[in-house]
Amino acid sequence: MSGGGSQACGLCPDGDAPPAELASPAVDVGGWAAGVLRGYEVPGWLAVFPRRHVESVDALTGAEAEELGGALRSVTAAVRAATSCEKVYAVTFGERLPHFHVLVMAVPADLPAELRGAALIGGKDRLRDPAAALEVAEHLRFR
Ligand SMILES: [Zn+2]
Repeated sequence: MSGGGSQACGLCPDGDAPPAELASPAVDVGGWAAGVLRGYEVPGWLAVFPRRHVESVDALTGAEAEELGGALRSVTAAVRAATSCEKVYAVTFGERLPHFHVLVMAVPADLPAELRGAALIGGKDRLRDPAAALEVAEHLRFR
């Protein structure tokens, strides 16, 4: 994974094109990138990821790690402002996409109990609304 990263990765920049796994443009958030992941187009769900290929949080530089806190705060505040969510989760797994990313997830107040916590990822298809998801991402762009 040298230079601009790996095209096979899906979240590394691919020339001037947005990363392949994004359904929205990548927005710069304090040195990190944020955007809507393909297949995860739920209103208020945004992936926050570094521009360079890194696979775990302990592979970040000290400066990148410090920027991450500010980026997560900004994206969470944007999600809260743009949705009527009750909570905002921030989770990282890295099973499907190796490029380190934190998924920031709006949790609607009326979300059924069976979709809360870790179950929310599995229930994403019940909440998908691509048009609304991209609209929330636009709030981030213009903040
Ligand atoms: Zn990558």
